[in-house]
Amino acid sequence: MKTHFIANQSVSPASGESIAVVDPSDGQTFEHIARGSAQDIDRAVRAARTAFEGDWGRLTAAERGRLLLKLSLAVLDNVDELTALESRDCGKPTRQARADVIAIARYFEFYGGAADKLHGTTIPYQNGYTVLTIREPHGVTGHIVPWNYPLQIFGRSVGGALAAGNACVVKPAEDACLSLLRIAEIAAEVGFPAGAINIVTGYGHEAGDDLVRHRGIDHISFTGSPRVGVLVTQAAAENHTPVTLELGGKSPQIVFADADIDALLPVAVNAIIQNAGQTCSAGSRLLIERSAYDQVLERLGAAFAALRTGPATMDLDCGPLIRQTQQTRVAGFLEDAKKANIGTVAQGKLADGSPASGFYQVPTLLRDVPVDHRLAQEEVFGPVLAAMPFDDEADAVRIANATEYGLAASIWTRDGGRQLRLARKVRSGQVFINNYGAGGGIELPFGGVKASGHGREKGFEALYGFTVLKTISIKHD
Ligand code: NAD
Repeated sequence: MKTHFIANQSVSPASGESIAVVDPSDGQTFEHIARGSAQDIDRAVRAARTAFEGDWGRLTAAERGRLLLKLSLAVLDNVDELTALESRDCGKPTRQARADVIAIARYFEFYGGAADKLHGTTIPYQNGYTVLTIREPHGVTGHIVPWNYPLQIFGRSVGGALAAGNACVVKPAEDACLSLLRIAEIAAEVGFPAGAINIVTGYGHEAGDDLVRHRGIDHISFTGSPRVGVLVTQAAAENHTPVTLELGGKSPQIVFADADIDALLPVAVNAIIQNAGQTCSAGSRLLIERSAYDQVLERLGAAFAALRTGPATMDLDCGPLIRQTQQTRVAGFLEDAKKANIGTVAQGKLADGSPASGFYQVPTLLRDVPVDHRLAQEEVFGPVLAAMPFDDEADAVRIANATEYGLAASIWTRDGGRQLRLARKVRSGQVFINNYGAGGGIELPFGGVKASGHGREKGFEALYGFTVLKTISIKHD
């Protein structure tokens, strides 16, 4: 069994219980992780507090930054091992798993460089006073990570929190812990003091809930579903713990007839098949101007028909979904599409030799999806793209904004005025013009509006969220 990682040591769960780790490519158990409980969380929070008040908290910002830079290089030194772990644990095709390892190294590099550039200001005030603000770490931060991009989300959330001086307790998703346990070991090897990074594995409603409710936690960074985001917010409110929420999306790509369709096609395909569609910012809705609708769908359909799905080790366009319940859920959406007579333009194919026990779903392109249908409203979290026509700019904005989400959006047009008009009108945390950044952009502030959450991660902006602003007013005359 892989145990918790607390105060730079491997720690067995107090319960003695474990959770099976299943390979999504063949449905077989290949490892076990510790089933964390309130006792384990308490031990991790205490270790983090000791670090914050001791060896970790004593470091200067430059020293923290240097450690993060060392960790970045050490991650790259272990790229093959981490890629193999992540690929098997999450069912990610090798290239995608490798891209995630490189991304976490880049997060540590970015936040390592940023650590000593975070500072407060002075404020002009009444004569005889000097007023300044300083940015202090919260103290002990809790990080709840989902299974779809464990490495990337750990990198942006824990990387930012450490740069700002916090000590961290992480609860990864029960389906995807292995690579993060290894990252924590590597951090200890490069010199992070005991307790700066702690990982407790286990179920969300057990260890996750215990973490959110712990009185020793000063800030929670939650990335996951809107449903659990509400539970986390309610639980954290009991202790007045501030929460950053990075939730789901139903992100639109808006394509006008004057767009560069050659440039759009590979981007639109990648935005929905990356990580088999299990991406919060997947481009899952394609809004196409009516005059170009059939032509774009014909070309996109040909691209979808050429896509191949199979085991992670085959390194195809799509790997399996994370688990059987996710496969059943996505299949349920496609059943509903059939019942509503929603047309299928094209589907990809399952590669020969894919184990029947794996959790596969081939990429599917649907057309004329009604704006109020659940396929146009809800997160499928699978490689299913819902296309729909629009008539003019106002219609495009109406449809784009007609979901509860607001995470990312893109606008494809050569008309500069239209690019900016729509960028301002679409309600979304990020807007891309003639490109789409699903999953990318370490330097770019990222987060949602509406049910996609609040607060920002990634980029320098995230550091503000991992600090508390203190105002100091000095009367000297
Ligand atoms: P989830 O909400 O089921 O789980 C996320 C994490 O929360 C897991 O670690 C889980 O164990 C934990 N958890 C579950 N119940 C809990 C509770 N009661 N208290 C505390 N923690 C609890 O989400 P998921 O299925 O793992 O991930 C997919 C979702 O995450 C999608 O909605 C996706 O859009 C979203 N997501 C958002 C972003 C973003 O940056 N906006 C990034 C990745 C994923």
